[in-house]
Amino acid sequence: MIVDCHCHAGKGDRMTAPWNTIAPIKSYLRRARAAGIDMTIAIPPFHSNYDQANDELGQLIAKYPGRFVGFAFVHAIRDAGHIREMVGRAVKKWRFRGIKVHGFDAMPTREVCEAARRFRLPMLVDVVSRPEVVDMLAPQYPDVNFIIPHLGSYTDDWKAHQQVIYQIARYPNVYADTSAVRQFDYLVQAIKRAGPRKLLFGSDGPWTHPGLELHKIRLLGLPPDQQAMVLGGNALRLLRRTASGQEPLKVTPSGKHHETSRSEAVAPGPRDSLSQVPESEYHL
Ligand SMILES: [Zn+2]
Repeated sequence: MIVDCHCHAGKGDRMTAPWNTIAPIKSYLRRARAAGIDMTIAIPPFHSNYDQANDELGQLIAKYPGRFVGFAFVHAIRDAGHIREMVGRAVKKWRFRGIKVHGFDAMPTREVCEAARRFRLPMLVDVVSRPEVVDMLAPQYPDVNFIIPHLGSYTDDWKAHQQVIYQIARYPNVYADTSAVRQFDYLVQAIKRAGPRKLLFGSDGPWTHPGLELHKIRLLGLPPDQQAMVLGGNALRLLRRTASGQEPLKVTPSGKHHETSRSEAVAPGPRDSLSQVPESEYHL
């Protein structure tokens, strides 16, 4: 089961760059299908009204049942005061299973983290080469799982990659995705230092080719069980949730991901390899 944990779909309204203009779902799907990707986490493009963008994404991915899982995009400052309602609506109406926050808009506030906690959702946070914010978020919300796209930097900031590798090794509730990471050895280091349970395959499609991004993971040459974690097992584990009114995700042809114990569904992953930091140290 291959899960792309980071892709955009739908229309933006600002039209000053590709990522706020259009994220065509059909070309993505064609490429993803050819690459053997089974499921994709979809996020709207940048938008000046995320309530509307989330709704449009919900309508769009509803046309492909079982193929996409939506994440609700929120702007921590512009949407302040409404984030719990926005996220709740997306979860209830469209069965979204995560939150996306982009540092170009604003970094996550307590309000966003509280919403993630309330609905037991993972949060994809683009820290725009400012990984120091992870050291604020992760210890404050140890029960919220944070996924840091691009290993901390879309723009190849190697210092950000280094810091995020350290963070995913140190914090049980911090993960990274591999999308658009160009400096291959940082992916190797991430696996070596943090272990295969802390890295998620993501493409950041449709602007990057999902097949090309997927091939990077295969080039790591991991043992099959470890590769399976990066390619989908980790994403499925983070998506699994048992909050009231939500059923566990049913996407398990292999049967490997059927177990849905409540504790595992909400736990930030203290059993993750190489992140055995004692609780007391973790909270320092
Ligand atoms: Zn993205």
